[in-house]
Amino acid sequence: MPELPEVETVRRGLEPVMEGATIRAVHVGRPDLRFPFPPRFAERLAGRRIAGLGRRAKYLIVHLDDGLALIAHMGMSGSFRIESGDGAHTPGEFHHPRSKDAAHDHVRFDLERGTDERASVVFNDPRRFGFMLFAEPGALAAHPLLAGLGAEPTGNALDGKMLSDLLRGRKSPLKAALMDQRLVAGLGNIYVCEALWRAGLSPRRGAGSIAGAPGKSTQRADRLSDAIRAVIADAIAAGGSSLKDYRRADGSLGYFQHSFDVYDREGEPCHRKGCAGTIRRIVQSGRSTFYCPTCQH
Ligand SMILES: [Zn+2]
Repeated sequence: MPELPEVETVRRGLEPVMEGATIRAVHVGRPDLRFPFPPRFAERLAGRRIAGLGRRAKYLIVHLDDGLALIAHMGMSGSFRIESGDGAHTPGEFHHPRSKDAAHDHVRFDLERGTDERASVVFNDPRRFGFMLFAEPGALAAHPLLAGLGAEPTGNALDGKMLSDLLRGRKSPLKAALMDQRLVAGLGNIYVCEALWRAGLSPRRGAGSIAGAPGKSTQRADRLSDAIRAVIADAIAAGGSSLKDYRRADGSLGYFQHSFDVYDREGEPCHRKGCAGTIRRIVQSGRSTFYCPTCQH
């Protein structure tokens, strides 16, 4: 499953090709992926101009000029490929050989910009856990997939005060609370582990224990919100990928992230300066948690 930084990297790769382009045609190779395509999927998109390409949690949002929004999720194995003739309107890094598994090309968006700049964006998904759905004009925020999502861990919205308010009174372990998409959206297992290590906070402590009085932050909540935003920003800057089979928007393989401090490092020495601890793995809510019992309290 791609994590938020990977989805954001895909969005940034697609944005220069998609934003402002007109959709000439959409070709769909099958009636469904994880869910059926909406009725008249291709017809409703054809002729529309793409007003913007956004992201909410792990969903890519294609905003059309008539107010319609396309919500796309890459599922387990989905990727987008950009195909262009001369590459004049795309950065050079987008030149790439045609995918070897064209059998799994399920959706093709033929785009044009002006009179002679053409490109196609192809969605390839061997395991078909991805999906594309519509949100009707004005109904995006209330869409069932998006309505219950918590704070975005990117940008400046998530600060210590907000985190303190979100976690107040919660008895669940801090790790579990941070994995709850209704509190913080799109923060997956890897980055929760990394953020807790950076903040020096134990994944086992009660979530409410880092909260302050209503509307007030605490030193711990400040440290944690800083760590969450930094760990996501660093991952995006590094290319976003942590999965071996993950492909970037341009078709090339994403960087394998070698810079984890705790994730998948069970039994190895803690990276923190002056800490002699050893990274430990425990299971919380069925998922592996990696942390340093010596410096995370
Ligand atoms: Zn340590």
